[in-house]
Amino acid sequence: MKDAIVIDIGGTFLRYAIYRDGELLDLNRTKSPNFIHYPDANLGQLQSVFIDTIEQVIHQTNENGYTCSQVGISFPGPVLDGRVLGAPTMWGEMHDSFELLNALAIRLPNHTFTILNDITAAGWRYLNKTDGNFCIITISSGVGNKVFWNKEVLLGKGALGGEIGHSYYGGEFSDVPCDCGQNGHLGAISSGRGIEKIVSIIKKKYPEAFLQSMLNNTNKVTTHEIVEALRHNDEFSILLLEESIKPLAKSINSIVCSIGIQKFILIGGFALAVGPLYIDTLVKALREIGLFGIHTDDIETMVELGENDDNHCLLGMGHYMFHNSNLKVEYKDLLA
Ligand SMILES: [Zn+2]
Repeated sequence: MKDAIVIDIGGTFLRYAIYRDGELLDLNRTKSPNFIHYPDANLGQLQSVFIDTIEQVIHQTNENGYTCSQVGISFPGPVLDGRVLGAPTMWGEMHDSFELLNALAIRLPNHTFTILNDITAAGWRYLNKTDGNFCIITISSGVGNKVFWNKEVLLGKGALGGEIGHSYYGGEFSDVPCDCGQNGHLGAISSGRGIEKIVSIIKKKYPEAFLQSMLNNTNKVTTHEIVEALRHNDEFSILLLEESIKPLAKSINSIVCSIGIQKFILIGGFALAVGPLYIDTLVKALREIGLFGIHTDDIETMVELGENDDNHCLLGMGHYMFHNSNLKVEYKDLLA
């Protein structure tokens, strides 16, 4: 295998490229085939449009002069052996799993497909930059994570794992609603969307700082404005970030104490937009609560920002396809 087509399914765009020798060639995008772009389609139709879109992407790469039989798909939901167990941002509620690998193999029998959960794919980008034991955390509109243990992603039965976004934090944020329908979850507080939600709580805690803040004259504070204010060292926004990051620090503390992971890589639109200040704030919060067994001077080296681009899933997917010796699932096995 020389080249592979790598595809990243996002909520807004489906992005695809050719992966060759650790690089991406001919990066393209098309609208994501989900319920947002096909509001009248039912679940079966959405899944059918998804397969059509993958076929069109392969056709397009052929038109562009590439002939790749290997296709890797980074998917936003839990995936087990090519079976999609859930896809809230793509297909909404699902009562049954969907045999995506099988459906692709039947439609496109001359291609071999590999399907990974998107955060797992992103983690593979960093596998060789670590000793294979680390946690990748994405801080964007929500919060997700995956733990890699001895160079394998660590998942429980039914591909469960990597849901720190839905771990309960509570406290003063116990009534803040999470996208999942419950309240007080880490993702409802520490995510890019979460930090917006807690402004009304934090401004009561620091009324003086809020009066002086760039955010004071805005009707509805958005994540974008918070990031902009942080770039201007706005005191209230720094306090807001410190408060919103505490649940994340607490979760990292639990992971360190429970399984001894000592490397955390932060990606996702919000963390990367805030930049080094995000890591500084997280380190400060971790030092305040302390990490059992870890010297306070070593905390700084435990957390780091990932690369500041949007190619984690595409590069990680390619890396997985070319370097994972356990990759054996092929369409022929499924049709046999
Ligand atoms: Zn939740």
